[in-house]
Amino acid sequence: MRIPLSKPDIGEREIEYVTRVLRTGQLSTGSLVAKFEERFAAFAGTRFAVATSSGTAALHLCVRALDIGAADEVLTTAFSFVASVNCLLYERAMPAFADIDPATLNLDPDHLREILAREYIYDRANKRHVNRWSGRILKAILPVHIFGLPCDMDPILELAREFNLAVLEDACEALGAEYRGRRVGTFGDATVFAFYPNKQMTTAEGGMVVTDSPRIAKLCRVMRNQGRDEEAQWLRHVRLGYNYRLSNLHCALGLAQLERIDHLLSARARVAARYSRGLSQIPGIELPYDPPETKRSWFVYVIRLQGASGAARRDKLKAGLQERGIACQTYFPAIHRQPYFQELLALPEYALPIAEWASGCCLALPFFPAMTELQVAEVCSAVEDILGDVRPGTQSVQRQYSEVLRSAL
Ligand SMILES: *Cc1c(COP(=O)(O)O)cnc(C)c1O
Repeated sequence: MRIPLSKPDIGEREIEYVTRVLRTGQLSTGSLVAKFEERFAAFAGTRFAVATSSGTAALHLCVRALDIGAADEVLTTAFSFVASVNCLLYERAMPAFADIDPATLNLDPDHLREILAREYIYDRANKRHVNRWSGRILKAILPVHIFGLPCDMDPILELAREFNLAVLEDACEALGAEYRGRRVGTFGDATVFAFYPNKQMTTAEGGMVVTDSPRIAKLCRVMRNQGRDEEAQWLRHVRLGYNYRLSNLHCALGLAQLERIDHLLSARARVAARYSRGLSQIPGIELPYDPPETKRSWFVYVIRLQGASGAARRDKLKAGLQERGIACQTYFPAIHRQPYFQELLALPEYALPIAEWASGCCLALPFFPAMTELQVAEVCSAVEDILGDVRPGTQSVQRQYSEVLRSAL
């Protein structure tokens, strides 16, 4: 594609730090792992950070550390990347889906409460909530800050307290986002971030668990390193573990990115602002909505095609953009409609009309920090052109585009 969907911002500092590690030969474990974790914890505002080989690995460690297993359920969203549900399935736990809010596309706290009241019975003797149909124990809520927008955490935390549930935040798309002035990652019992190249910062592949709990941090540390007790001998394994380590080499890249994080985040915000200006006059599309109590960290720029024909127009727009060499992606197909998911056990019929509607009408446009004004203008102009109904009397994006073109020449 001529304009890619995403592109990491790799500078000289990244190349220098990575090269330095290559010269030392300390490729796997090394001093930069602890340094990266320390700096990351300081950025996130938590006591501990544990680096992992991916965001998915980090989620899996948290599920195990929270003791979520085959008899358990976790309330979460179906409008997400599959990893936030797969981490439960790895442990034979099941997701229980609540629907999303149509404006924010995040878990709808009212629907959460409704499900909690309708589907669960309180087991007084054991002080836990049991699904009246499946008999599974509800252990946690797993909110996903989708597209970098924080979930409505106050009512979610209130429900967690009321129903005695753990909270595991999936902040893989929301590094640096804030809710009521507080960074995501500081609300849950544990939070997960990811560093795949399309995220706000990258380590190529990588992830991080952050928590204030010494117990969770210790468990994650031990499990990511083959169950080794890190204070003991190398070949003493105290529990079932994995190789979910993040290498010294990856951490070097992460350190360089973290040192430039303010720049990376503000460059993304600038691109988003250009999109919002460029697309604001095009009828039939809805731009990202940010509630006043949130500060989004821009991960992707996702528009929604409005109305009953939204899904058809979304598919038309997708084909048209691709034809012009402009990458785009249908973030996200609802997880409970994925082919692999249908084959899992006997599933209840989920009624998630908003998640399904959003899956049909959302489209992510090319979005990365180094995206030029000209590239944004070209995408906006293509969107307008393909959707084909210019509103008379307003300045068209086409004209803005030619103005940018002129000033660039
Ligand atoms: C990126 C992402 C993850 C983790 O992805 P990895 O590729 O395993 O690092 C998890 N959840 C969500 C919502 C994501 O966007």
